[in-house]
Amino acid sequence: MSTRVWAAVTLGVLLVALAVVVAVRVPWSIPPAPRADQLAALNDLPPQAVAKGRAFHAALRPGGYGALTIGLLVAVVLGFSPLGARMVETVARPFGGHWLAQAVLGGLAVVFAGELLTLPFAVWRQRVLREYGLSTQDWGAWVVDLLKAFALGAVVGTVALVGFFTVTRLFPRWWWAVGAVGAAALMMLFTFVFPVLVEPVFNKFTPMEQSQLRSDLMELAARDGVPVKDVLVADASRRTRAVNAYVSGFGATRRIVIYDTLLREAPDAEVRVVVAHELSHARDNDVLTGTLIAALGAALGVCGLFLLGGWTPLLRRAGVESIAEPRAIALLVALAALAGVLAGPAQALVSRRIEARSDAHALRLTGDPASFEAMMSRLALVNLADVDPNRVEYTLFSSHPSVVARLAMSRAWARAH
Ligand SMILES: [Zn+2]
Repeated sequence: MSTRVWAAVTLGVLLVALAVVVAVRVPWSIPPAPRADQLAALNDLPPQAVAKGRAFHAALRPGGYGALTIGLLVAVVLGFSPLGARMVETVARPFGGHWLAQAVLGGLAVVFAGELLTLPFAVWRQRVLREYGLSTQDWGAWVVDLLKAFALGAVVGTVALVGFFTVTRLFPRWWWAVGAVGAAALMMLFTFVFPVLVEPVFNKFTPMEQSQLRSDLMELAARDGVPVKDVLVADASRRTRAVNAYVSGFGATRRIVIYDTLLREAPDAEVRVVVAHELSHARDNDVLTGTLIAALGAALGVCGLFLLGGWTPLLRRAGVESIAEPRAIALLVALAALAGVLAGPAQALVSRRIEARSDAHALRLTGDPASFEAMMSRLALVNLADVDPNRVEYTLFSSHPSVVARLAMSRAWARAH
């Protein structure tokens, strides 16, 4: 069999594996709350808060769509024309056009071209966040965060680019196989490394002081069969008013992280509800599910790239001889951007299902729908949520059930118990 046939077979096997993971590990059986209950919940929310959330999201919308459109446009123009290949050559010229210079500098140039052109939209977004009082960051701190994110992206990007093009040089015919394994492994590694190396770049974490709440949360975790090592408080108030909490790490390193904003805003019973929701993610290994999907998706992507690389008209359009050469970076970025746009709604759907399961679990574990509802209303109020987003945007972008859907679910649960 030729390598192309092998790649096609592998692609098929990975697709089946992905379908199995999604079918088995995603809770498809929980039906969304009836629309009538959602509308009743909507009616009970303070109309002013609902209107403010809507206005906030309407103000964000042009910037959001602008960034999406321009980002995609830049990627497509550079990738599906010889412009991108020329850009890679140009930045590597001072280094004699060495492949490493092409891979690293070329790759960073292509990516940062997109970042730079969408920067005005990022500024727009931050302006809206400040105007609505959600961001507590001044522009200096915001720029520092932006630079940190750029630096982090540059480091990760450099490792990925050098890795990828080393593999394509070492294994000209089988790079897709090595690359698929490598990409999947990288996704797994990132899940473990992220909480340890990346989170501290943006936030400071301090162990929560001994208190009734802390003991309550540790007890809740133990009762749920998800022992945690510690409860940490993140200094999120440095940058936002938004409230949140999450469980990070695995096994012996697992800890509950609570935004200081949440502790300030919410009574203890509501914090318990949030933590119970987060414990459910740990208990059902939702991070593992997410990582598996990401790893299979990444491996699929590499096989797909190899197969697309045999399509001569595409290569000719991008002005490259092979998809595995550094001059093809812009083409790779364009294909990745398109794949991202297509995969987004599917990821959002999977995420909404998993989040609904965690809500149901939080209700079971705390047996406290009143606090659940109070917390949801508070979350909506403080985070300026669009409590009942329009159907299209909800389908395309929402990672969580809408606030009214979550409220309706809680009411249904209360009725049944
Ligand atoms: Zn969640």
